[in-house]
Amino acid sequence: MPQATPVIILGAGLAGCCAALDLAQAGQSVTLIDRTPRPMMGASRHNEGKLHLGYVYAADPQLETHRLLAAGSLRFQDTVARLTRTPLAMQITSGCFNYIVPQDSARPVAALWDYVQTVDRTNAALAAEFGQAPLPPSRIADSGAISAFYAPGIQAVFTTPEIAVDPGRIADIVSAAVYADPLITFCGNSTVLGAGQTGSGGYAIDLAQGDDRVTIGADRVINALWEDRVRLDAMVGQDTPFVWSQRWKATVVIDVPPGALDLPSTTGFVGPYGDFVLYGDRRVYASWYPALRLSMSTTASPEEVRAQVAQSDPETLRRQALQGLATLMPGVAALQDQAARSRIGGGFIMAVGNTDIDDRASGLHERHQIGVEGSGRWLSISTGKFCTAPMFGVQAARMMIDEGAP
Ligand SMILES: Cc1cc2nc3c(=O)[nH]c(=O)nc-3n(C[C@H](O)[C@H](O)[C@H](O)COP(=O)(O)OP(=O)(O)OC[C@H]3O[C@@H](n4cnc5c(N)ncnc54)[C@H](O)[C@@H]3O)c2cc1C
Repeated sequence: MPQATPVIILGAGLAGCCAALDLAQAGQSVTLIDRTPRPMMGASRHNEGKLHLGYVYAADPQLETHRLLAAGSLRFQDTVARLTRTPLAMQITSGCFNYIVPQDSARPVAALWDYVQTVDRTNAALAAEFGQAPLPPSRIADSGAISAFYAPGIQAVFTTPEIAVDPGRIADIVSAAVYADPLITFCGNSTVLGAGQTGSGGYAIDLAQGDDRVTIGADRVINALWEDRVRLDAMVGQDTPFVWSQRWKATVVIDVPPGALDLPSTTGFVGPYGDFVLYGDRRVYASWYPALRLSMSTTASPEEVRAQVAQSDPETLRRQALQGLATLMPGVAALQDQAARSRIGGGFIMAVGNTDIDDRASGLHERHQIGVEGSGRWLSISTGKFCTAPMFGVQAARMMIDEGAP
């Protein structure tokens, strides 16, 4: 652990690691700090990996969310490949997502199909702006395709060009690149307790390392702490104007025998449903919101949430998630006998809003109040989503360089 360092990045998730890798590629040495023993052990490993093009945010009346998420998603894979110097082919992706409309969806089929087509048009314009090949337009699945995979009562299925990347594979690629870079010093097992400004305009960061307390100095800081970001910003006088909620969502990941499963990656919308993802031909992500959303609070500390989550029984979560999903996709029920191949994970979801997603007016239906905040020597990455983390990580690194990082 260095005593003083020019640039400290707090939080070695995808946002913090991408900022570190981009700064290192520009020749800047960086100290990267995390409470976990290795990088990429938080939400950036334990999520669905969907590269959102915006279809799921059909309740955002201003359509701002989908443009921002799509801008991150369309460049996600190339940015990760560039930063990690790892071939694109190493990333494992899902097939295209089907968006299914259950009987009790919060919005009617016609309105949703209109919205999907609007999103398609914006994405086509964005892809052209980024010099990318046009995405195939979404289409309505016929009744044969619906009955092949979905339960009776599903009103409609839209096949979109959206995909997911296996976040476990991305986490492995990114953490390997962090360890391999000689300009990045990773300090694990170091919990950030607090921060304050020093007389010279830099910052002092207080850390707990086991039973030890350590303070290190930095000229500049990027705060990418996700669940603890807002607290640290407030300590250096950068208060948020929003009410933030934190939810803990558990995940079920199942390694299936190669080629054994042939189900389309699927999201239920609009409402508290779930997602099924098949990455490549051998790993499944299964989620059912009513069973796996284990906490929601605007006041609980991350430690309190972790203690609460530790009370849940992994086997019950696994069973309930598959049971819930099977009400929409009956084929998922076959995964119930794969307990030995299943893992329960999970992570924090931070968002502006204080009511849950079953409230149509909830701020959770919008994710555009995100990005790099602050200026000068303390920047804060409000990541928003996994798909926007590389974009905002690079943006923070460039802002730091533009503002004269030593
Ligand atoms: C179940 C689930 C599914 C999701 N699905 C998707 C999806 O399909 N698509 C999508 O785009 N987004 C999704 N998300 C959201 C996405 O995972 C997050 O937005 C993203 O990973 C946040 O990245 P980050 O780098 O900011 O945070 P993290 O990856 O959580 O990194 C923050 C790091 O800070 C560390 N840290 C926190 N506090 C401290 C402290 N006090 N001291 C030291 N270290 C600390 C943590 O250990 C962690 O390593 C999902 C999230 C969850 C939980």
